[in-house]
Amino acid sequence: MSGILHGQIIGAFGRHYLARLDDGSQMICLTRGKKSEVACGDIVEIERTGAAAKDNGTGEQGVVERVMPRRSLLYRSDAYREKLIAANVTQIVVVVAAEPSFNDELVARCLVAAFDQSLEVLIVLNKCDLPSADAARKLLAPYRAIGYRVLELSAKNPTVRSTPKIPEQPASRELEGRLPPLPEGGRIVKGVDALRPFLRGHTSVLVGQSGMGKSTLINALLPGAQAVTREISTVLDSGKHTTTHARMYRIDDDAASPHPVGVSKLIDCPGVQAFGLHHLGFGAVEQGFVEFAQYLGQCRFHDCRHLHEPGCALHKAVADGKIDARRLELFRQITAKGGC
Ligand code: GDP
Ligand code: ZN
Repeated sequence: MSGILHGQIIGAFGRHYLARLDDGSQMICLTRGKKSEVACGDIVEIERTGAAAKDNGTGEQGVVERVMPRRSLLYRSDAYREKLIAANVTQIVVVVAAEPSFNDELVARCLVAAFDQSLEVLIVLNKCDLPSADAARKLLAPYRAIGYRVLELSAKNPTVRSTPKIPEQPASRELEGRLPPLPEGGRIVKGVDALRPFLRGHTSVLVGQSGMGKSTLINALLPGAQAVTREISTVLDSGKHTTTHARMYRIDDDAASPHPVGVSKLIDCPGVQAFGLHHLGFGAVEQGFVEFAQYLGQCRFHDCRHLHEPGCALHKAVADGKIDARRLELFRQITAKGGC
């Protein structure tokens, strides 16, 4: 049987793709030609070609005939090549952790990419059960000050550990004595369930260096999902474990929840540790540092690179305490490396 099918790419494993068709079934697909222009998250038209050779005959196979226009496209690039990361996402979730120390340049790069593609941003500070969370929290303070949302949690806590609402001024000594003790030096550490409302209705891509707890987080949100992905990856890669696969997971809303708002989709790209922005020009990086906006165009030289030029408005804003010094440093690092 032939015919055009409609679906979304939910897995990219080298040259093989996994599509979820509109009827909810899944199909393994290839692209025509060698160059891969299909990304996880793409809405596609597929032509059915017959039984899949490699998946033990349990499914059919198709060829991606057409990629529909994308709402957004994330890719990383260096001077030599570009690699698609994910298509049609609406939100970037940047996962950092209390320890090991995280790379704030990766965070800044994600924010620039997010601005370029008009995506929402959520920064998740994981491992907040550890005492080192305080130092990480301080590093993220400039991001909160600019207006980015930072969600602190511990992926190892399955649910929000809630305590009864604590009155600011206990009405009496008697009541004070009955308040439950707070864990870990007085902080309530939220669990992974605290993340769910932020994902609802979005297609989020999860980005983070290894060691930040991204796998733990996904596993807590979707138990068993990663194991399935590993299996698919092994089958499609003939045993070679690819590190650059991307996978989209669905978190179906609990129909019983008081505010069901549809599905949440989550894209994990385990291989993405760096976020090359070579494809973005100097201006796009400038714009992506959103707190710079009010100073742009005010430097003495109209082509100011905000390095050591006299009369640089950004430099002055840092001196005046209006812009965080580290953020300007990150901007310089990114534009220096980016070739823009
Ligand atoms: P990934 O490389 O980002 O996928 O990180 P993993 O999920 O493999 O986690 C790296 C390490 O951090 C593992 O040893 C996890 O057990 C640990 N880890 C993950 N989340 C938490 C957390 O919330 N608290 C603590 N203390 N450790 C965590
Ligand atoms: Zn300047």
